[in-house]
Amino acid sequence: MATTEARRTADPLDFLDLDALLADEERMIRDTVRQFVAERVMPGIEEWFERGEFPREVFPELGKLGLLGMHLSGYGCAGTNAVSYGLTCLEMEAGDSGFRSAVSVQGSLSMFPIWRFGSEEQKHEWLPRMASGEIVGCFGLSEPDIGSDPASMRTAARLDGGDWVLSGTKMWITNGSIADVAVVWARTEEGIRGFVVPTDTPGFSATPIERKLSLRASVTSELVLDECRLPAGAALPEARGMGGPLSCLDEARFGVAWGVMGAARSCYRTALEYAKTRVQFGRPIAGFQLTQEKLVNMLLELNKGTLLALHLGRMKDDGRLLPQQVSLGKLNNVREALRIAREARTILGANGITLEYPVIRHMNNLESVLTYEGTSEIHTLILGQAITGHSAFE
Ligand SMILES: Cc1cc2nc3c(=O)[nH]c(=O)nc-3n(C[C@H](O)[C@H](O)[C@H](O)COP(=O)(O)OP(=O)(O)OC[C@H]3O[C@@H](n4cnc5c(N)ncnc54)[C@H](O)[C@@H]3O)c2cc1C
Repeated sequence: MATTEARRTADPLDFLDLDALLADEERMIRDTVRQFVAERVMPGIEEWFERGEFPREVFPELGKLGLLGMHLSGYGCAGTNAVSYGLTCLEMEAGDSGFRSAVSVQGSLSMFPIWRFGSEEQKHEWLPRMASGEIVGCFGLSEPDIGSDPASMRTAARLDGGDWVLSGTKMWITNGSIADVAVVWARTEEGIRGFVVPTDTPGFSATPIERKLSLRASVTSELVLDECRLPAGAALPEARGMGGPLSCLDEARFGVAWGVMGAARSCYRTALEYAKTRVQFGRPIAGFQLTQEKLVNMLLELNKGTLLALHLGRMKDDGRLLPQQVSLGKLNNVREALRIAREARTILGANGITLEYPVIRHMNNLESVLTYEGTSEIHTLILGQAITGHSAFE
C-alpha cells in the first residue's frame, strides 16, 4: 500500500519524535538554552577547552536566563519542573560537559543543599545571589584519599567557643578556584555535617588542578581548609550524616543522565554529517554497511537514553523517583554516551582526533563524567544491591 504515510521518513535528529512528548513551556526553555549554546558556547568552546579555562563571566548570563537552581522554588529561583532542568542539562552538554557541570554544580550541588538543609537566614543570604549568577558556589565532598567512600572523609569540624573550626583538604572540586562560597562536608561529633564557607574565610585556599586532559573547559581545584573559623550559623541545620551529601548527588546525577545525551547527540550528528560528505572508494562513507551499522547503533542508544532521561524526569516531577532509578539512568546513559562518542570518533578517521570537530572533546569529557557523581562501578553496586538485597561494597 504505497500511501503518502508510508513515504514519510523519521527525522534523523529526533527519530522517535520525542519533541511531541514535551509541553510547550519545556520546549520553549529547551529552545532558549539551545540558542544560548549556539551563540555563547560554541563560538568560544574550542579555545576555552584548549586553554583549560571556564569563562566565569557566563554565570550572570546563565542567571539572567533563570538556569541556575532553576528547579528550586523561591529565593530568586525559577521553579521549573525537573524535565525542564533535564532538557537544560542536555542542551548545555551538547555544547560541552564543562558548561553542564557549571550549571549542575551551582544548582544541584551548591544551591540545593542550602535550599534543602539551610536555615532561613542562609537561604536569604546566599540563594538569590547564586540564582542570579552574581556569586558562584562549589561542593566539597571528595578528598585526595577519599572518593567513592566519602563516609570515610578526614576533613573535620569542631566547636570552639561557639564557633566552628574546619580543617582538611578537598580534591577535584569543580568551580573551586572561581567560587565565592563552598558547601563543605566535614566530620563532626554528630556525624557528617555540611558547612557554608565563604571562600574569603582566613585559612581557606583553592588551587586549580592543572594538566587535565578531560573537562578542560571547567575549573577543577584542590581546597585547603586550614583551621577555618566560622560562626555557629555556618552549619546547615537540617543535614546530619551521609544522607545530606548523597541527596545532593542524586540531584546532580539526574542532570548527568540527561546531559550526556546532549554530548552523544552532538557526536552522532557530527558523524552523520561527516559520513554523508566524506568520500572514499568513490562514494560517501555513509553508503558502507559498516558505517551504517555504527550510525544506527548510535541512533538506537541515543533515542533509548533520551527516552530514559525523560521517563526519569516525569517520575521526578511526580515525586516518585528513587535514588536507585537515578543510578540506572546515570550508569546507562554515561556508558552509552561514551560508546557513541568513541564510535563517532572512528567515523571521522584522522579528523576525529582534532578540536576542529567536537567529538574527541566530548569523548574526553565523558571520561570525567563516567567517574564523577559516582563511578560506573559504584552505580553498578547500587543497582546490584537494589535487586539482590546484598551489598557488595565492602
Ligand atoms: C573533573 C572532575 C570533577 C569533579 N568534581 C567534584 C566536585 O565538584 N566535588 C566533589 O566532591 N568531587 C568531585 N569530583 C570527584 C569525584 O566525585 C570522584 O573522582 C569520584 O567519586 C571517584 O573517586 P576517586 O576518583 O577517588 O576514585 P576511587 O574511589 O579511588 O576509585 C578508583 C576506582 O576503584 C573503583 N572502586 C572504588 N570502590 C569500589 C568498590 N567498592 N567496588 C568496586 N570498585 C570500586 C572505582 O569505581 C574506580 O574505578 C570530580 C572528579 C572529576 C574527575
